[in-house]
Amino acid sequence: MAVLAFFVSHWLLCVFFQSFFQHRYSAHRMYTMGPRTERVMHLLTYLVQGSSYLSPKAYAILHREHHAFSDTEKDPHSPHFFTDVFRMMLHTKKRYDDYTEGKGQPEPRFLGGYPEWPLVDDTLRTSWVATLFWVAAYSSFYIAFATSPWQFLLLPIHFLMGPVHGAIVNWCGHKYGYRNFDSTDKSRNTLPVEVLCMGELFQNNHHKYGSSPNFAARKFEVDPTWQVMRVLAKLGVIRIATPQRAVWPEPREAAREAGAARAA
Ligand SMILES: [Zn+2]
Ligand SMILES: [Zn+2]
Repeated sequence: MAVLAFFVSHWLLCVFFQSFFQHRYSAHRMYTMGPRTERVMHLLTYLVQGSSYLSPKAYAILHREHHAFSDTEKDPHSPHFFTDVFRMMLHTKKRYDDYTEGKGQPEPRFLGGYPEWPLVDDTLRTSWVATLFWVAAYSSFYIAFATSPWQFLLLPIHFLMGPVHGAIVNWCGHKYGYRNFDSTDKSRNTLPVEVLCMGELFQNNHHKYGSSPNFAARKFEVDPTWQVMRVLAKLGVIRIATPQRAVWPEPREAAREAGAARAA
């Protein structure tokens, strides 16, 4: 029971901070916050994601490329260019490593506007001592509380939580589910009640309304990360910076213009 509670809470917290900090803040700047609050959120993201913490800078660059080149050959992780999810993730990892190591040359328009903290993003993220600490910490919990040997099979997922979520969102979100909006990419909404990945699987809504902090568009869709953001905004912790909101059905005028642009 303790192991299951740990697994579920670690899963949800990791994907929440990925969606809240790396995606909606670093890549999209959907909200602002004071410099001290930003540091607290940055540190919390590291502490929660531990051994699989992703550099906000490299994440932001890759993700902006994903929006600009969605489901084309230049997309860093389109499932339509790979035979399986592992090949897609290895390709993504290679480009991510290039950007964290300063070897890749992204287009200038994808640079800037993300939080940078060398101690966390470079020193701690790449430190073997820190990685071993996290691996030992997760393992110790299992050694103390596991009630059956099969539960240890869950441990590698804790070690690689960030890439596991990336694989699910990038693969499923452009392959399985329904579409609310017509678009040139192949994005889909995989789950209408999106608790599993905290709103990240509303890829079709998000590609249509890239600046909307609420990834849900229809009445039955629920975006948990947006619900948390609303509370944080009410409390004054963050300020929502973008007026755009996902609207379904797409207003007729906008739909006509989008159709004409696609046909041109
Ligand atoms: Zn995005
Ligand atoms: Zn996408």
